[in-house]
Amino acid sequence: MSLRVYNTLSRRKEVFEPVEPGRVGIYLCGPTVYKPSHIGHAVGPIIFDAIKRYLVYKGYKVRLVINITDVDDKIIAEAAEQGRPMAEIAAEVEADYLKCLDALGVTGVDAFPRATENIDRIIVLVQRLIDNGAAYAVASDVYFDHTAAADYGKLSGRRVEDAMHGTRDLAGENKRHPADFAVWKGAAEGEPAWDSPWGRGRPGWHIECSAMSMALLGETFDIHGGGVDLIFPHHENEIAQSEAATGKTFAKYWLHNGLTRVKTKAAAGSEKMSKSLGNIRTITDLLEEFPPETIRAFVLSTHYRRPLEFSDEQLKATASSLDGFYILFNHIKFVANEDVYEEGKDITEVANEAKTKTDDAFVKEVLEHRLRFHEAMDDDFNTARAIAVLHEITGALQKFMLEESVYPREPGCENVLVAPAGRTIVKLGRILGLFEKKPDCLVSYQIGLGDAEIERHVAERENARKAKDFARADEIRDWLAKRGVILEDTLGVTIWRKA
Ligand SMILES: [Zn+2]
Repeated sequence: MSLRVYNTLSRRKEVFEPVEPGRVGIYLCGPTVYKPSHIGHAVGPIIFDAIKRYLVYKGYKVRLVINITDVDDKIIAEAAEQGRPMAEIAAEVEADYLKCLDALGVTGVDAFPRATENIDRIIVLVQRLIDNGAAYAVASDVYFDHTAAADYGKLSGRRVEDAMHGTRDLAGENKRHPADFAVWKGAAEGEPAWDSPWGRGRPGWHIECSAMSMALLGETFDIHGGGVDLIFPHHENEIAQSEAATGKTFAKYWLHNGLTRVKTKAAAGSEKMSKSLGNIRTITDLLEEFPPETIRAFVLSTHYRRPLEFSDEQLKATASSLDGFYILFNHIKFVANEDVYEEGKDITEVANEAKTKTDDAFVKEVLEHRLRFHEAMDDDFNTARAIAVLHEITGALQKFMLEESVYPREPGCENVLVAPAGRTIVKLGRILGLFEKKPDCLVSYQIGLGDAEIERHVAERENARKAKDFARADEIRDWLAKRGVILEDTLGVTIWRKA
């Protein structure tokens, strides 16, 4: 089955055929670095990192670029408020962003170009637009003339009349038409500025992405990504100005991920994450509460085009579903004495070996699941379904272990298929960036104990006390206390409560 992707430009799924056979260029709009990163900043990178991993797995040479907008009205405003230089704030926030992506296993990004390091390229592109008659300078500002793009609105489906509303640029006094937008802005006194043929100024937001994507990936490249909220005006304007400059198709496939919504306790529904609603938590804060693999698995458990419903409850649910895998891997270690995180045969390799019985029903079942994992990923990178398939393999393997009486069993009774089936889960998971590292312990331990878990420890302590093993009973009490669970022994019964 060939890979199909949903292209916002055509509003349908298309067979994926890169511009240059065997190579794929991906550009994802990155953050404006003025405030510490929140989960919304990590969603796109996690998704496109997984997309890159799958394309690499399919044999493509992939280049993934995420830009850093380090000059912008918002950073200038933040700098003025804090009374610090813009560059200092941008560098600080960028470092935090990169650290968070690294923690979340987003390792596939080949370049993070900064706008301020590409000013020369941006000026060349603006000049090219002026030379083509697609842009005009008024005083020290330069505007793109929307009538230069005959198909303006093709991505968002908006007409020019609608386009006049909701643009991020401040209404320029000097524009010829409200739908025109700034590609270069003259600087006010004291603002960060660079020399240009139009006087000292700074680039508009849209032109940065056009200049940097074309510089790093070519004038026509394969995939342009971003959140749905960027379709208009940002991406619409990127297309208009890039194609007006080159006369070529800018990006072949436009992939947009859904908005991140935060579930709040007060409201029954969910609301869009925003600073004004005060429902933003930084990634650094989240990483203190949840292991990075949990956050990554949570993001990929929803298809990228759907809105992501973000809540602690959802993260906890993801954590316990990951525990299902970790428990299985532990059992495999116990019964087969093999660590599935380490190199070894997976089910495909076992099936390919002539000496093993390839007609084995269980082998066939796992191979079918493996195929369905690939089908899910080929269907517009459906990571949600792909993860569901991993759970199905887990279920099939547990059933197999029960039926074959290898579970639970003393070590040394290993079945030749158990570890390869487990390793198949690990290998497929790694295509999504999961199971890269062995967890220290179950995730539920790391994020606080569930009630059932606490009851189990309390019961174990009761047994220790009955057996007069008071040292063990105290050990359990201390262990629980460290995790915020207080025990009270009254009238012969033990009551527990969370501190
Ligand atoms: Zn962009």
